[in-house]
Amino acid sequence: MSEQPSLFDRFERAFMPNYGVPPVALARGEGTRVWDVDGKEYLDFIGGIAVSSLGHAHPALVEAVSRQVATIAHTSNLFLHEPEVLLAERLQELLKAPARVFLANSGTEANEAAYKLALKYGRREGRSYFVAAENGFHGRTIGALSLTGKKAIRDQFGPFPVDVRFVPYGDADALKEAVTGDCIAVFLEPTQGEAGVVPPPDGYLAAAREICDATGALLVADEIQSAIGRTGHWFAHQADGFTPDILTLAKGLGGGLPIGACVGFGEAGTLFAKGDHGSTFGGNPVACAAALAVLDNVDLGHVQQVATRLRDGLEAIGHPLLKGVRGRGLWLAAVLTEPVSGRVQDAAAGAGFLVNALQPDAVRLAPPLVVTEAEIDAFVSAFPAILTEAAR
Ligand SMILES: *Cc1c(COP(=O)(O)O)cnc(C)c1O
Repeated sequence: MSEQPSLFDRFERAFMPNYGVPPVALARGEGTRVWDVDGKEYLDFIGGIAVSSLGHAHPALVEAVSRQVATIAHTSNLFLHEPEVLLAERLQELLKAPARVFLANSGTEANEAAYKLALKYGRREGRSYFVAAENGFHGRTIGALSLTGKKAIRDQFGPFPVDVRFVPYGDADALKEAVTGDCIAVFLEPTQGEAGVVPPPDGYLAAAREICDATGALLVADEIQSAIGRTGHWFAHQADGFTPDILTLAKGLGGGLPIGACVGFGEAGTLFAKGDHGSTFGGNPVACAAALAVLDNVDLGHVQQVATRLRDGLEAIGHPLLKGVRGRGLWLAAVLTEPVSGRVQDAAAGAGFLVNALQPDAVRLAPPLVVTEAEIDAFVSAFPAILTEAAR
């Protein structure tokens, strides 16, 4: 009687232990529904961390990617191709401001590009340090990590080559104090994602824009998690009423295909000279085709409608474990009265819902942007029993 080792055991033996072993093994998906390897069905309320904008196996994404991979899958940056040009032009259009694009493969790479762009500006102007926010998250490569304000993932890999000063997120006075004429750039998320989907107080981002204008520091908006319709707007900064100097994108842009973008507005769009930066895979035709399909199929009106329904539904739940809801659009944290988010995540999976234990007291909800009203209602009506199960 020899038992075959499970996928989980094989994962554990084959991979570095940095992720631990995930609790569910997914086999396939369709829209907001996914199935695990045992055939159990779930409603996906995390969407691959705000990535699967069009849900799973969306016909337009399948068609665009299949057509592109069967046409030409890769050119490198030695040759240009139409999908990358269409995508950069499309981003320019949506941004409604003079902007230039660099394409990368991930969020952290988009931020590396932003970091180098800012460094170039800083060296030219004789500026010496960056400012970023406590608890902010910008990625895992050394440049992006140096800007990441989460001690647990940052400190053991320091010291870093550049001076980064951290300020409490949402405190405009602290920001004003930290940003001088020596500051190269301020890196901020318009809502902090990994910190727990934490929006700033009203006026904070406008104040950040003013502080940067007054001192000549560049304002970098990391919209890797917040953009491409997630908040009910193409870009969170558009709703917040400010334009950054540099913008970074990734997660939702490719709908599941790996792509990142660094956008420079105005002069920041032309700081890189030929040879200053590059990527072999960045702007890959298949990833660009996927991003174009995403941009063609995200319906902001739908996102706003279902987002309101989700938020109202959650806010109407009176449960002793649920303290409240925060976030924007289809990007919410259910805030708990006890640090038991892991138990909520497990209970949700048991009940057929994928959610994410983001912080000990915060459960992240970021369903595909195509989630239906009926699927929202199914989650909202199941959530009280999930909370009760987690509280036991
Ligand atoms: C996810 C994320 C990143 C890093 O993106 P990767 O693709 O994982 O490298 C950076 N910034 C923010 C705000 C993110 O949410």
